[in-house]
Amino acid sequence: MSQGPATRPAPVQGVFVGMPTPLYAASPSRLLAWLDCPRRYRFAYLDRPRPPARPQRAHTSVGVAVHNALRDWWDQPQRSAEAAAALVGRSWIDLGFRDSEQSRRWRERSQAEVAAYVRGLDATVPPLGLERTAAFKTSVLAFFGRIDRLDDRAGQLVVVDYKTGRHRLTDEDARTSLPLALYAAAVWKMFRRPCLRVELHHVPTGTIAAFEHTSESLTRKVREAESIAADLRRADARYAAQVPDAASFTPRVSPLCQWCDYRAHCREGQQAGPEKVSWAALEENTDDRVTDETQSGGRIDRDGGGWADGFEDGSEGDGHAEGDGDSGAGAHHPAQS
Ligand code: SF4
Repeated sequence: MSQGPATRPAPVQGVFVGMPTPLYAASPSRLLAWLDCPRRYRFAYLDRPRPPARPQRAHTSVGVAVHNALRDWWDQPQRSAEAAAALVGRSWIDLGFRDSEQSRRWRERSQAEVAAYVRGLDATVPPLGLERTAAFKTSVLAFFGRIDRLDDRAGQLVVVDYKTGRHRLTDEDARTSLPLALYAAAVWKMFRRPCLRVELHHVPTGTIAAFEHTSESLTRKVREAESIAADLRRADARYAAQVPDAASFTPRVSPLCQWCDYRAHCREGQQAGPEKVSWAALEENTDDRVTDETQSGGRIDRDGGGWADGFEDGSEGDGHAEGDGDSGAGAHHPAQS
């Protein structure tokens, strides 16, 4: 009996049959949104049109003004504390506060905190990068993100992330931070030099939480990101195929629901408690995730304008990380298998 032609799967839109699986492009916001709550991830990254998010909160306004001032300060002819305070005033966004009096009080407080913070900096040694996009690829993941500050301290590359929330940070926070580790891996890849030290600079107190990674600990974080990306790829595919699989985007109800930008669209989250007022994080010692800009669901898109922008900026000479052999100083880059 003659054999008919071998059957092959029907083509999937956007993918040629036989094409290698594209890398999964992900920023820290995307990875962490999934870990925090798959339902919120769906609202922020898959539903189109995106459900309208609530108006900006006051702590976000404070965070944006402080980050902008600390970036622009290095371009000032006089890198003084007064210049830093003036920059906070110029960047101030009067959104989310209880009233203009609260906004004024917080502007002055932030100006004083940023001025005190820059007094501790060596103004004669500019950083290697400010709000620089960093990226790397592995065999499954194309990571990109934006680093607040990258220092070169006598040859040692250091990733610095500014924090502006009330919550005080510990070295354990620096050790366990997935975004910080991925930034360090990206810097290592881009500069072809080991980057192991990561620091969280808490601007309100001027304190620093730090951790010195090893090649092995960065590798573990890269593997963790790859594992999250694999979950995301499956969830995205189910969503695209309109598989009736509500379990893929189960709401993860937690105290964070009281802060969630999308709770108006989420019945389960509304049952977690009343919504926090817009200025609540200014007054409470909240979970750091509430005031972490990388987890703000896109409210401050400091991960870059999009994957293409981010990748091209950070991919200097990059290809698939596996086997490209470009790690520095004979050390083993964490993105290599
Ligand atoms: S309200 Fe809570 S459960 Fe609902 S999407 Fe937001 S974080 Fe998830």
